[in-house]
Amino acid sequence: MAFGPEAAKSSILSPLKGTDDKLSDVCWLAQARGCDAAPRAHHAVPRPPGETVVLVGHIGVAIGAHGIRTIVPLWLLIVASQLPDWADAVVCSTGTQTTVTGMLTHSLPAVAMLALAGAVVALAITRDFAGSALVGAVVVSHVLGDYFTGIKPSWAGGPTIGLGMYARPAIDFLFESVVITGGWFLYRQSLPVDRRSSREALLLLVALLAIQGAADVVFWLQPGIPKC
Ligand SMILES: [Zn+2]
Repeated sequence: MAFGPEAAKSSILSPLKGTDDKLSDVCWLAQARGCDAAPRAHHAVPRPPGETVVLVGHIGVAIGAHGIRTIVPLWLLIVASQLPDWADAVVCSTGTQTTVTGMLTHSLPAVAMLALAGAVVALAITRDFAGSALVGAVVVSHVLGDYFTGIKPSWAGGPTIGLGMYARPAIDFLFESVVITGGWFLYRQSLPVDRRSSREALLLLVALLAIQGAADVVFWLQPGIPKC
C-alpha cells in the first residue's frame, strides 16, 4: 500500500518474460516455500517476481491515525505509514541490498527498528507519548498491509510471509478500499462538524480511491514494475 517503492506479486499469475525472470521467480518461490531448490548460481539478489510502486491503503491508515490523534502532524503519519518503503529506496539507491529483497526494511526486526525510530522522532516533535506510540503502530501497520498485498521476509533464515494480492488487483482494490474508507471516516470525525461532508472532504476519499484504482489497473496491465 503506498507512494513509495512497493510490493511482491505472485509469480503464479505473473507472465515470465525471459530466462532471467524465470530464474528469479524460481529463486523467489523456492525461498517462499522454505525449500532449498533455488539455484545457488542465481542467488546474487533474488527479487520478488513483481515489484510495484503505489499502495494507497497506507495513506488511509495515516489519515485515520491523524483522526484518532490530531496532535500528531499528518505529514509525520504519512511518512510513518510508508517508512519501510522509503527505507527500501535508500537501500536501493545506496546499493546496500541484501541477498533477500526487503530484509533490511520489511523483515520483523527491521520494522521493529523503524517503528522505534519513528516513535522517537514523533516524541521529539509532539512531546506526546500516546501520539508517539501511534506513530510506531502506523509503521508496523505498513508491513501488515504488505503481508496482504505482497510477500515479505520474516527474519534472516526465516520464512517469507504474504498473500501476494497484487496478483489479484480486484481483491487488492477491495481490501485497500476498505482500509482507505475506514481511515477516511476516522479522519472525517476529526474535522469540524460543518466540514465533515464538505466537497473537500469527499474529494479526498474519491481521490485516494481513484489513485488506488489506477494503481491496480497498472498492476494488472504491467505486472513486475522494478523497484530498483
Ligand atoms: Zn512496503
